[in-house]
Amino acid sequence: SDTDADAATDPGSLRTPIVAVLGHVDHGKTSLLDKVRGSAVSEGEAGAITQHIGATAVPLDTVSSMAGDLVMADDFDLPGLLFIDTPGHHSFSTLRARGGALADIAVLVVDVNDGFQPQTEEALDILQRTGTPFVVAANKIDTTPGWNPQADAPVQQTYESQTDRARERLDENLYEIIGELSDAGFSADLYWRVQNFQGNIGVVPVSAMTGEGIPDLLAVLMGLSQRYMKTEMEVDLQGPGKGTVLEVKDEKGFGATLDVVLYDGTIEEGDRIVVGGVESPIVTEVRALLRPKALSEIRTEAEFERLDSVQAASGVKVAAPDLDDAMAGAPVRVVRGRHLEDVIAAVEEELSEIEVDTADE
Ligand code: GDP
Repeated sequence: SDTDADAATDPGSLRTPIVAVLGHVDHGKTSLLDKVRGSAVSEGEAGAITQHIGATAVPLDTVSSMAGDLVMADDFDLPGLLFIDTPGHHSFSTLRARGGALADIAVLVVDVNDGFQPQTEEALDILQRTGTPFVVAANKIDTTPGWNPQADAPVQQTYESQTDRARERLDENLYEIIGELSDAGFSADLYWRVQNFQGNIGVVPVSAMTGEGIPDLLAVLMGLSQRYMKTEMEVDLQGPGKGTVLEVKDEKGFGATLDVVLYDGTIEEGDRIVVGGVESPIVTEVRALLRPKALSEIRTEAEFERLDSVQAASGVKVAAPDLDDAMAGAPVRVVRGRHLEDVIAAVEEELSEIEVDTADE
C-alpha cells in the first residue's frame, strides 16, 4: 500500500506490546487471562480478539470498548496488546529476547486476601532482574466480606457503591500489599495516585471473576506502553522477523513444529530461518505458518489455518523440516536479505546469553 494511513505496511511503524501474566499459584493468573479474552469476545464484533498460537491479541478498538471512558482510542497509536497465554514466571523467565525479557510489560497477580507468597517474591525478583515494567493486579476483590459486585465496572465506580465496612476491609488488604511491595524495595500506590509509573508501581484492584477493575487494568497497560515503551515498539515491521520459541511440538502431518512469538519484523512462508538448537543453530526453511482457526470454524475442518506471512507482535506455529533439536526459549531469526553466517552468529550469541542466565539461577 502507498497510503500513510495503512500502518501495517508502513516500515518503521509500531508493533503491539507483549504482555505476560505472573504470580503465585492460585492467585488468579489463568482466570484473569480468561476474563480478558471472554470480555473481548462478548464485545461481539468481528476481530474483537485474535487467538494466536500461545498468545491472544486484543486490538486497540477492543481495549477501548472494554475499558469505556478509561481508554479513548484516539489517544493511542499502539495497535493494542498481545497477551502471552502461558501464565507463570517459569515460562516468563525462559522467554527471552536479545538478552532481556520477551514480554515488554507484565501483570503481577496477587490475591488480596493472601498477599505476598513465595512465588510472588520470585516473580518480583525476575521482573527486577530483567528490568520489566509491571503493574500489580490485586485480585479477588469480590471476596471482600459484604462485597456487592458490579460486573465489569471500573474500580472506582464499584468501590464507591460498597458499604463503608466493605471498603475498609478492602483498603486494609490493599495497603498490606502496598506495604509488602515497599518492603521488597518498590515504591507503590493505588494506580490512580501514581503520577510517574517509571519510579512507582501502580496497584490495580480487580476481580477476574466479576470483571471489576478489568477496564482499569487494560487502561494502565495501554497507558504505560504508550507512554514509556513507544520507542521500543518502533520496529521495521517489513524487515526479517525475530522471535522466541515458546514450545517445540509434534503436529500430525507436520512433524516437529515451533510455537513462536514474533517480536520484530515479518516471517513468510518459504523464508529461510535460523533457530537455536540443542547442539548448534538449525538452518531451515518455513514450510507453513499456522494459526488456530476462528472459534466458529473449529471442529469443522483442520485445526489450523495457513497464513502467507505474519507480522510482529504475533504468536504463530512454524512448520519446517529438521526442527527436532530446536529448543524452547531459543531465538528464531529470518535470514531474508542478510548473510546467513551473520544470522547464525547472532543466534549463537543469543543462545550463549540464555545459557549464562539459566546457570545463574
Ligand atoms: P492461577 O493458578 O494463578 O492461574 O489461578 P487460577 O486462575 O486457576 O485461579 C485459582 C482459583 O481462584 C480458581 O478457583 C478461580 O476460580 C479462583 N479465582 C480466580 N480469580 C478470582 C476472583 O477474582 N474472584 C474469586 N472469587 N475467585 C477467583
